[in-house]
Amino acid sequence: MHDDKLREICEQVRESELVLVGLGEEFQYDWHILIEDERYHEIEEEIGDNEEYVWIIPFLQKMVLRRMHQDRWRDAYRNLRKILEGKNYFVVSLCMDDYIYDAGLIEDRIVTPCGGFRRMQCDNNCSHMLSDIPEECYDKVLEYYEKKLPVEELHEPVCDKCGGKLRFNQIGVSRYAEEGYLKHWNDYIKWLQGTVNKKLCVLELGVGMEYPSIIRFPFEKVVFYNRKAHMYRVHRTLYQMGEGMEGRGMGIAENPIDFLLESDIKSYVGEKL
Ligand SMILES: [Zn+2]
Repeated sequence: MHDDKLREICEQVRESELVLVGLGEEFQYDWHILIEDERYHEIEEEIGDNEEYVWIIPFLQKMVLRRMHQDRWRDAYRNLRKILEGKNYFVVSLCMDDYIYDAGLIEDRIVTPCGGFRRMQCDNNCSHMLSDIPEECYDKVLEYYEKKLPVEELHEPVCDKCGGKLRFNQIGVSRYAEEGYLKHWNDYIKWLQGTVNKKLCVLELGVGMEYPSIIRFPFEKVVFYNRKAHMYRVHRTLYQMGEGMEGRGMGIAENPIDFLLESDIKSYVGEKL
């Protein structure tokens, strides 16, 4: 039954001229490697709520992302790539874990409006510019993690223009630098304009109500107005389809990662993969 749904999606993608993909909260990496890590718990205890050291945590998250090996997220992205292979697609993702940039998808066809761990910004966004991760600082956090350095030796990186805190370019900083994604967002809007009256397949994977104005509502609108569009909405609980899409889509009550993984996707997308 499960496989039939994925088979239908693959067929629908194959028959469509364009494919629009939205990835949401349920697709976000769950940080279990850190949560289950003994040293991480020690660190949490050591720094507690000490404002001076809370910045270390996202650097540890970055460490996990850099060390990531094969896991279910990677496998899910690999299957997504297989589904999209050879198609004209665009992916909008709310995930901040950067997995998508390692998935072998075309980077110009990805936009991550919530940011991630790839660049940093000034907390005040004083210059509207992003900066690279200060590797020296990152290395020191690693040394601390490996117990080669006491916490007192760690110093939060600061903006070299105003002295404000340097933070990962993610939604949630004091003044989010949208410069990190705006170019790709504009490309996406242009691409979207090109879907009018085209046969479009919309895949919404794990998108809930955290930022509904980024994916959920606009995707519904696209499908509502484009009578040639088909939509598949995979979410554990918020899988219901909007009104006016009868017969042009399906809500699938599943975790999107499991949904992509539990199938022999090769048989649907052809031998070449
Ligand atoms: Zn600054």
